[in-house]
Amino acid sequence: MTRHAFISMETVFLKSFQYIRPESLEEAGRFLAGDAPVKLLGGGNTLLLRIQSGEEEPAILLDVKHLPGFKDVRYHHNQGLKLGAAVNLQHLVMGLEIRRHYALLHQTAQKLASPQVRNRATIGGTLAWASPVSELAAPMLCYDAVCHVWSSRGLREIPLSEFYLGDFQTALAGDEIITHVHLPAFPNRTYGVYRRQTVRHDGRRMIAAAAVLAYRRQQALTHWRIAVLGVDDRPKRIPEAEAALEGAPTEEEVDRALHIVQEQIHPVDADYARADYRRASLNVLLRQAILDVIQQLQSMRS
Ligand SMILES: Cc1cc2nc3c(=O)[nH]c(=O)nc-3n(C[C@H](O)[C@H](O)[C@H](O)COP(=O)(O)OP(=O)(O)OC[C@H]3O[C@@H](n4cnc5c(N)ncnc54)[C@H](O)[C@@H]3O)c2cc1C
Repeated sequence: MTRHAFISMETVFLKSFQYIRPESLEEAGRFLAGDAPVKLLGGGNTLLLRIQSGEEEPAILLDVKHLPGFKDVRYHHNQGLKLGAAVNLQHLVMGLEIRRHYALLHQTAQKLASPQVRNRATIGGTLAWASPVSELAAPMLCYDAVCHVWSSRGLREIPLSEFYLGDFQTALAGDEIITHVHLPAFPNRTYGVYRRQTVRHDGRRMIAAAAVLAYRRQQALTHWRIAVLGVDDRPKRIPEAEAALEGAPTEEEVDRALHIVQEQIHPVDADYARADYRRASLNVLLRQAILDVIQQLQSMRS
């Protein structure tokens, strides 16, 4: 039976809203098609704070965490990884299939927030929030993740590289629900590195961050991926710089890739870091990450 509740939380400075736990996507779709302002609820880490601050005033919160399949995690060595939208970020730290086959996701998730926040935060809510410093986006972009989305008009797939449109803007329509994310399978000899610089040790106030991934095919280092955070209005890949690293990159080619990245970012001043500092930080982080990936892949046995 669908759970409904009227929550009045004026005592904790939240406006009243109706809490609804739909049992199917079709039922969720009926609420989304109605006149009342609706927000989807994942872990609530961001959404509840925004309701508390008055930035969002939904009449209905649709808790999508209990929809069928939303907590599924499935890995297949040919088909890759399917992560339901309600899987929490702590699973990316603890899940064996993630540690073994998507180590960059594991490495990044370990740094993201705290176990308490990660236990609540969902994959769907984190991607949909679309912060320019969303750390989950970096490994997801490197692994060519694809968002699977449902609405009453049907299903569609959005590659993550086309998902972020700008500052907290995504390609999602207002009535669309992320159901799961798919990551293709990667060869065993894949290696990735995530590096970030923040003002606070707990990760808040990001200056810049970068994730780099590639794999080794015979002597060639190929399928380079570079994702950057904090230096533009969205998390983004830099495909031209990735292309400059194909093969077995020389120092000059690494310099060339870094130069391309510098041309394609648009950092802005923040009260805790000037734009030119963010630019310089990214350059250092990225050079370290690229050199780490080259060294690790070249030291793997053929
Ligand atoms: C104390 C704290 C520390 C943090 N530290 C970090 C950090 O170090 N690094 C970092 O990257 N982030 C950090 N964050 C941000 C955190 O990662 C996000 O708040 C969180 O991941 C959002 O996920 P959620 O499931 O809680 O989303 P919610 O708050 O529930 O929802 C966020 C948005 O997504 C929408 N949504 C939810 N589910 C879906 C769905 N299935 N389909 C479509 N839309 C959906 C909601 O309607 C809402 O608009 C921190 C947050 C807090 C509160």
